Amino acid sequence: MKLSLVVPCYNEVPCVRLFWEAVRGLGLKCELEFVFVDDGSVDETLTVCQELAEKDTAVHYVSFSRNFGKEAALLAGLRKASGDVVVTLDVDLQHPVTLLPEMLTALQSGDFDCVAARRVDRAGEPWLRSLFSKLFYGVMNRLSEVQMLGGETDYRMMTRRVVEAVLSLHEVNRFTKGIYAWVGFRTKWLTFSNVERSAGKTKWSFWGLVRYSIQGLSAFSVAPLHLASVTGVLSCTAALLYLIYVVIKTMIVGEPVVGYPTLTCLILFFGGFQLFCIGILGTYLAKTYIETKQRPVYLVKDEQ
Ligand code: UDP
Ligand code: MG
Repeated sequence: MKLSLVVPCYNEVPCVRLFWEAVRGLGLKCELEFVFVDDGSVDETLTVCQELAEKDTAVHYVSFSRNFGKEAALLAGLRKASGDVVVTLDVDLQHPVTLLPEMLTALQSGDFDCVAARRVDRAGEPWLRSLFSKLFYGVMNRLSEVQMLGGETDYRMMTRRVVEAVLSLHEVNRFTKGIYAWVGFRTKWLTFSNVERSAGKTKWSFWGLVRYSIQGLSAFSVAPLHLASVTGVLSCTAALLYLIYVVIKTMIVGEPVVGYPTLTCLILFFGGFQLFCIGILGTYLAKTYIETKQRPVYLVKDEQ
């Protein structure tokens, strides 16, 4: 049996070799294949991968022409991996490689097609980030057909048929966590505690994560598009009832011209709300626009 490790790397010079040593040090009893995906690093990550490939014939790499993002790197790695079993994990050792034997055993038992790892605590993470993450999974589960547990990572081992299923989705805007949930199959969940990075620093900023969640949500749910219609119907009903009330009141007691502040507030509120809805429309339109161009998800500069 052959196990492929798909490892996205972006400016990870200090981590690549540590990662390789850690995996080799496990002494796994199966054939290994390393697929390092250099996501357009500006440091010497590619050189390190090339050196490793010279030393160890199991090491392969794909190098992008520029930074295309982790999702693109995962796709390239999955396409290149030839193993019967494929695992995707981070190079910074935040996805503990010590889980690999347990994952392999679970897959080999034949009861599962997929083994995924979940972080159970978020020690060392800013509280605001944890809060938004919880919020994201809550909204995602409510609004989309895919169900996620929260604390999900991209650390996942899968059989060849799951890999083929994931690769059969041709969208350009790839939200891998959602794709895994969408393709289904029997998944076993393992948990691990948050680990600090082995070296280097995180590539994710707070706003980067916000953008990522909007991408993810709009890739798997069209519910926000219905927001405008639902609110429209509600406010029409309210306006109608109010109209009846005003007409009756004027006929019975008569009324001087008041209600100027109410009017201003309503105009501002609905003006803002309409812009918000147009923004949602724009998000989906932009997605459709990008998808219809059918540009490749990444461009390869060098591979072995
Ligand atoms: N990564 C990548 N392309 C990017 C950003 C990150 O391939 O544009 C890789 C990175 O090298 C690492 C993994 O994705 O192996 C996770 O990134 P990071 O550790 O920065 O994220 P965090 O663990 O903080 O969520
Ligand atoms: Mg990390």
